[in-house]
Amino acid sequence: MSISYLSFSYLLASILLILSIRGLSSPETARKGNILGIIGMILAILTTLYSPLVSEYKWVLLMILLGGIIGTISALKVKMTALPQMIAAFNGLGGLSSVFIAAAEIISGAQTYLETSLGMLIGAVAFSGSLIAFAKLQGLMPAKAITFPGQQFLNLLLALGVLGSATLFILNGNPDIFYLLAGLSIILGLLLVLPIGGADMPVVISILNAYSGWAAVGIGFALHNVLLIIIGSIVGASGAILSYIMVKAMNRSLKNVMLGGFGVAKNKTAQADEEEKVAHSGTPEDAAFIMENANKVIIVPGYGMAVAQAQHILKEMAVDLKEKYDVEVKFAIHPVAGRMPGHMNVLLAEANVPYDDVFELDDINREFATADVAYVIGANDVTNPQAKTNPDSPIFGMPILDVEKAKTVFFVKRSLATGYSGVDNPLFYAPNTVMLYGDAKKVTEEIVRSLEKN
Ligand code: NDP
Repeated sequence: MSISYLSFSYLLASILLILSIRGLSSPETARKGNILGIIGMILAILTTLYSPLVSEYKWVLLMILLGGIIGTISALKVKMTALPQMIAAFNGLGGLSSVFIAAAEIISGAQTYLETSLGMLIGAVAFSGSLIAFAKLQGLMPAKAITFPGQQFLNLLLALGVLGSATLFILNGNPDIFYLLAGLSIILGLLLVLPIGGADMPVVISILNAYSGWAAVGIGFALHNVLLIIIGSIVGASGAILSYIMVKAMNRSLKNVMLGGFGVAKNKTAQADEEEKVAHSGTPEDAAFIMENANKVIIVPGYGMAVAQAQHILKEMAVDLKEKYDVEVKFAIHPVAGRMPGHMNVLLAEANVPYDDVFELDDINREFATADVAYVIGANDVTNPQAKTNPDSPIFGMPILDVEKAKTVFFVKRSLATGYSGVDNPLFYAPNTVMLYGDAKKVTEEIVRSLEKN
């Protein structure tokens, strides 16, 4: 295949992949987006295989087979709630492949020092940072922020070391300095993610995702590969935009996230205050009785609904309330409910909840004051009024769903435990709150049984 055909084919693949991302932005077009992405990726791989640069197929095919098997098994086995760590692992592999390609370029005597070193150092940070993110999310190490005295100074020294060795390498192309740069970048990635914990991990994953994209851009320039440059830029830019959207929704800043320490210690006073208070609990039958006599019920799903896979039975509950008891039922979605953007929307769409019944925070928040019931299922942080009232709280400033304004608030969860941020929720002790202790799916099943019996 001649170079112009190659470039044309890569361009076509890139357009398909861009259209795929556009399709994925809405549940209605997501399936089509996925198909376009698959076609784009197949075209990209075939074009690469036809490229005159590939002289031997044995290793390429072996690696495609191996990667394909690992990817297929992980995609089939992974639980929805474990997706963040799977993304972390895949980001890490993306970064690592940039490191390997850069090393291969240097070993083969290429002189694209600037592009190679940039691709390698960003890839190395993405790789080692993702390792820590994966370990934290998978529970292989404590999820909380890990800090020690002098940490930021050490990070600064390392960053200077990375910049210094990159400059030296660009100037003289000495392979030994290249390996030093690789080592320093890997340590820097580890140390950058260690102090980040609590609810900030998903943001970090998105940032590392952006890094793996930028690393691919560097490598793309080194290899003069149009596809890598285009796709790397898309991954880099979309990762950066997603990180921005997340920190904005949490009312935090990127600087604040990267310097870490989220959710540590500060919460002690709130905990002490709560010790004397009593939370009232009820039964699913009580909840069914109150909801069937309500005019308006607003359902607030959160991470616990995803864990329990309660979306289908929740849809059934909404249908029963609407059709059998003529209750107005709406779903309220907080932008960071769950563990990734759009987490709740995807689950509700899977259960065929009509899009017209699903409302974003800004569009529904005023309606809690006119609701008889807020049914909070597996959500916690996204309802925590400390975000509005306690300037010392680590979640202070995050916009929240004003569920406490409803006449009755049901919290479906297994205990009074905190959410991902580790911050206590004073709403559990409010006079209009009733705790429905138990697994989200089981409790909702019992409510549906009661609703259908009456
Ligand atoms: P939270 O993590 O605040 O709370 C979830 C609650 O679900 C827990 O308190 C837990 O309580 C309960 N739960 C767990 N399993 C079950 C189960 N099987 N049945 C019933 N309840 C269960 O979740 P939210 O969705 O309210 O908030 C999301 C958090 O993630 C926020 O802190 C947000 O900032 C953070 N985050 C989210 C991002 C996103 O993109 N979505 C990005 C960045 C951060 P118990 O153990 O008592 O059952």
